[in-house]
Amino acid sequence: MRNSDAANHAWVRERYPLLSQALLAGASAQLRNMATVGGNLMQRTRCPYFYDLGFPQCNKRTPGSGCAAIDGNNRMHAILGASPRCIATNPSDMSVALAALDAVVRVTGPNDARTIPFTEFHRLPGERPDLDTILQPGELITSVDLPPPLFADHSKSKYLKVRDRASYAFALVSVAAALQMDGSTMQRAHRAGRRRAQAVARERDRAGVRRQAARPADPASRRRARRAGHAAAARQRVQGDARAARDRARGVTGRRCRMTVIGKPLDRTDGVLKVTGQARYSADNTDAKLAHAVLVTSTVAKGRIASIDTSRVQARCPACCS
Ligand SMILES: Cc1cc2nc3c(=O)[nH]c(=O)nc-3n(C[C@H](O)[C@H](O)[C@H](O)COP(=O)(O)OP(=O)(O)OC[C@H]3O[C@@H](n4cnc5c(N)ncnc54)[C@H](O)[C@@H]3O)c2cc1C
Ligand code: SF4
Repeated sequence: MRNSDAANHAWVRERYPLLSQALLAGASAQLRNMATVGGNLMQRTRCPYFYDLGFPQCNKRTPGSGCAAIDGNNRMHAILGASPRCIATNPSDMSVALAALDAVVRVTGPNDARTIPFTEFHRLPGERPDLDTILQPGELITSVDLPPPLFADHSKSKYLKVRDRASYAFALVSVAAALQMDGSTMQRAHRAGRRRAQAVARERDRAGVRRQAARPADPASRRRARRAGHAAAARQRVQGDARAARDRARGVTGRRCRMTVIGKPLDRTDGVLKVTGQARYSADNTDAKLAHAVLVTSTVAKGRIASIDTSRVQARCPACCS
């Protein structure tokens, strides 16, 4: 399903306003008209070093090569969920809302079909930043299930996205928050946030669930709260490691930070490479056997392709593939 269709579906707007808001906050109208739910969930990080082959260090692109962003321009990188190997973030707005809504991803693959709770679908970078999700090779997303709408009240849920420009831009920070109210008493609260953490899903705030009551009445809820506590502690450890790595890279020693950059000219990490023409961009990478394609569009609005006659092309260019 296209992102625009999902965002504007009457059912989604009425029952899951949080999801509709998040979808409409993503990309531009033209992009949303083309982008699909599966593609949006699977899109890769926007870390510029990941895309710029001029930087060989990127553990996500080339495992074991290092991380150029830790020592580089990392204004848009993660505060939460980072690891010493990768501080990239997940760019999807829809994912933040789906995490707050407790969605479930259905996938099918060579072995079997299975369902994955959304909060487990994306991976934190950890030791393997090259893996973004827990999908196995050959598995495809077939659908995303939404639970019964608990947060349909527009005044009780909100997707908030902070970005550099309002027209369209990826989030610097975004939060999906939803409250289930009983009169003036909060029964349940969900929040998924992203200071652009790699796996937004894991950042769902269980604290909201814990706030329901000091001690949940049933054993299952108590077990869930305990597990959430362990997960939060583990997250803090990972964040501590990543923070230490970034502090080292920035010259922070102990509790004191040596402010060495303020008031001084600062070279961009990629500045010298770019002005001397040494930086390599994706388009600089060519291959002798690279195929070039030309799109020939049909003059028939709707029809079935019976056959394709390539004889004229082959006659003029035997090496051409079609
Ligand atoms: C300039 C620009 C700005 C953008 N801004 C934002 C933004 O602010 N917020 C935001 O959320 N997004 C943003 N996007 C992303 C955009 O919304 C699309 O979601 C994204 O590009 C994926 O598009 P797609 O559906 O065409 O996926 P594709 O590019 O076709 O696919 C992406 C990946 O997903 C895989 N894939 C696709 N479908 C499935 C499936 N069913 N199962 C398994 N794998 C699958 C593909 O194989 C591919 O690897 C932006 C994109 C651009 C170009
Ligand atoms: S943050 Fe991750 S994606 Fe970016 S350069 Fe480092 S390893 Fe690569």
